[in-house]
Amino acid sequence: MSFAPPPMPTDLPPVHVNLYSDTQSKPTPAMKAAMMEAEVGDEQAGTDPTINALCEKMAALLGKEAAMFLPSGTMCNQIAIITQCRPGDEILAHETAHILTSEGSGAAALAGAQITGLQGARGQFSLETLKGAIRSKSRHSPPQRMVEVEQTANSGGGTVWKLDDLNAIADYAHELGMVTHMDGARLTNATVAAGIAPSDMVAGYDTVWLDFTKGLGAPLGAVLAGSSDFIGQAWRWKQRMGGAMRQGGICAAACIYSLDHHVERLAVDHANAKLLARGLAQIPGIVVEEPETNLVFFDTTGTGITAWDLNQMTLQHGVGFSVNQTWRGRACTHLDVSAAQIEEAVAAIRAAVSRGA
Ligand SMILES: *Cc1c(COP(=O)(O)O)cnc(C)c1O
Repeated sequence: MSFAPPPMPTDLPPVHVNLYSDTQSKPTPAMKAAMMEAEVGDEQAGTDPTINALCEKMAALLGKEAAMFLPSGTMCNQIAIITQCRPGDEILAHETAHILTSEGSGAAALAGAQITGLQGARGQFSLETLKGAIRSKSRHSPPQRMVEVEQTANSGGGTVWKLDDLNAIADYAHELGMVTHMDGARLTNATVAAGIAPSDMVAGYDTVWLDFTKGLGAPLGAVLAGSSDFIGQAWRWKQRMGGAMRQGGICAAACIYSLDHHVERLAVDHANAKLLARGLAQIPGIVVEEPETNLVFFDTTGTGITAWDLNQMTLQHGVGFSVNQTWRGRACTHLDVSAAQIEEAVAAIRAAVSRGA
């Protein structure tokens, strides 16, 4: 069965305020110029200078020994899992984690690992909840191999895990002999919001990755980092899965550009998210989850209009967001959305709600 949202009207105007996802931002002219000028080689042979430079830059930024360029964040998660988990192993992650909800059961299908979902508010679980999920070691129990956290927690509302909580969870997992993995799809949103250096924030995590196609605005690419030994083993999977590239430096150049020019400006997206949240909160019937970064989730139950229907109504006016659950919308700020467009989005949603279902 495929996931089937209500059919979209076919006569919609182009979307000019696109809050659907930060993945939909387009490369800027300056980013494209950096791509055009990239020095390239052959990544599979280890001779693409721009990919090598990106990996060195990322290993330094994240305080890890080595790093590897991959086409997507999903491949980072899957390679981290399959390199470290054997068939039958168990991964502990929040019940809304991307690896559990949104990667086509990759951990089960590819690594043969099972993921157990932990509960907790806003996409995060506590140390106590983790302790409660630890099984006695016996031949009956799944071997517990990995603890995974998502920074920021996407479905949790783009929330930022506190450094103390991250470290307490990592220390405990390590005491039990487990490995720790951080899905850092939006890690730089977290480090900018918290004012913490990336290497400090991820210090407790054996493996971690950053996506360049979210708030950073690159057309493709993610970098997975960890020990030299881990990256060496991960390379076999990159090769095996067809993720090894040739003149990929063209894309790595966009990632390097985004690290140099698009990280600090994430604060603008966070301010726009707060602006959007304040505006939406004033619309009767809408309940907004207070944003911590660039994701604004809101509940439409009180309006009597599902998030699906509300989105279809605003799309008539060129304003689009995404739907997380029937009554829960998600609006995402990014480098292609200005404060003026946020005001326009609020006005469109307000008008749709007052017109009614
Ligand atoms: C987007 C996302 C991913 C997957 O990244 P892709 O580059 O789309 O494959 C994984 N985890 C989280 C939390 C994400 O938001």
